[in-house]
Amino acid sequence: MSSNKILVIGGGPAGLEAARSVAELGGEVILLEKRERLGGTPDRENYAKLTHHWRDASEAMAELAASVTSSARVEVKYNAEVKGMSGSAGNFNVEIEAGGVAESLNVGAVIVATGFQHFDPGRATQQYNYYTFPDVVTLTDLEKMLKDHHVVRPSNGEAPKKIAFIQCVGSRDRRIGNEYCSKVCCGIASKQAIELRELLPDSKVMIFYIDMRMYGYWENEIYWPAQEKYKVNYVKGVISEVLKKGDQLLIRGEDTTMGRPMEVTMDMVVLSIGMEPSAGTRAIAQTLGVKQNKYGFIEAGGEGGLDTVATSAPGVFVAGAAAGPADLNDSISMAGLAAARAVAAAQKVAA
Ligand SMILES: Cc1cc2nc3c(=O)[nH]c(=O)nc-3n(C[C@H](O)[C@H](O)[C@H](O)COP(=O)(O)OP(=O)(O)OC[C@H]3O[C@@H](n4cnc5c(N)ncnc54)[C@H](O)[C@@H]3O)c2cc1C
Ligand code: SF4
Repeated sequence: MSSNKILVIGGGPAGLEAARSVAELGGEVILLEKRERLGGTPDRENYAKLTHHWRDASEAMAELAASVTSSARVEVKYNAEVKGMSGSAGNFNVEIEAGGVAESLNVGAVIVATGFQHFDPGRATQQYNYYTFPDVVTLTDLEKMLKDHHVVRPSNGEAPKKIAFIQCVGSRDRRIGNEYCSKVCCGIASKQAIELRELLPDSKVMIFYIDMRMYGYWENEIYWPAQEKYKVNYVKGVISEVLKKGDQLLIRGEDTTMGRPMEVTMDMVVLSIGMEPSAGTRAIAQTLGVKQNKYGFIEAGGEGGLDTVATSAPGVFVAGAAAGPADLNDSISMAGLAAARAVAAAQKVAA
């Protein structure tokens, strides 16, 4: 028996947009979210402001979630995971467990939107001493502080006067097997630098980078104002280690523009950690039998490479950071395309 229903796995920005779009196209959706809440990583990790219009992240995520929960065409299942799948495009049988109860679903197509997780800065590169020095924090730690409008050095509770960002932590690093660029961290560091300068106008903020990778919105709305209006200092360099010096942190590395060694002391160091496939993305790829790339993200592109939401399994599509590092623009745009393709795939088989 063929089915027109579309299964969306993951209730982050990509999954929410995919569900909303399928419903708007007239389709029926079952949305599975592993947690008890929608909103994905921005919700789980308490992001503060989003780059887009500097909106409060929880408000923006709640709005996306409401567009789905208010739709009669979308059924949301929380604490839900896929246990197995059989069949083919147009007629998949999916075994799930939701809230501890096992269930069987018949769906025509599947959209995977299981997202990413942050790189653990203690996993392979301990030279930055994240787990040793309290004043070494990550982008996500700082997001939480910014959300509370209370940025202090964890070591002594005082406002930091000198703050440095170190870019590409866990990304573009062949030694740990993550050669890829995480795409969002240059922009997010710049966004946080602006927020720091607004909150602590007497502070000095430096960003140490290999090269700044920003495009479109991120460049015009974030990068240039950070430099010109907020006087954030960008230094092209490679940081080799973060050490302790008195009650401060000593950053040691090379200023690659000047071609000479560099040492600076800071009150707080922020590690711009990259994006890796979430545990859920790795697991679902195995359960559904779709190909992963060498980093564990779900391979998209189809045979000719231009089918940007197609996976190796016909009728199974991917959207957002499950397919690789992506900002909200990329994730949401990809989700719209995945929705259209999933509806078309299910209808084609049903016809
Ligand atoms: C510190 C930081 C700040 C950021 N700020 C911005 C910003 O300001 N602007 C911007 O454009 N981008 C920002 N981003 C990027 C943004 O977070 C991502 O683009 C976006 O979250 C990707 O959405 P997603 O739905 O693909 O994945 P996620 O947000 O990771 O959502 C995936 C969802 O799937 C669920 N899930 C996982 N596995 C399963 C499973 N097996 N079954 C069911 N559910 C599952 C998860 O619980 C989660 O709800 C930021 C990223 C970081 C690291
Ligand atoms: S976005 Fe910037 S910080 Fe992030 S991996 Fe790419 S170059 Fe490095």
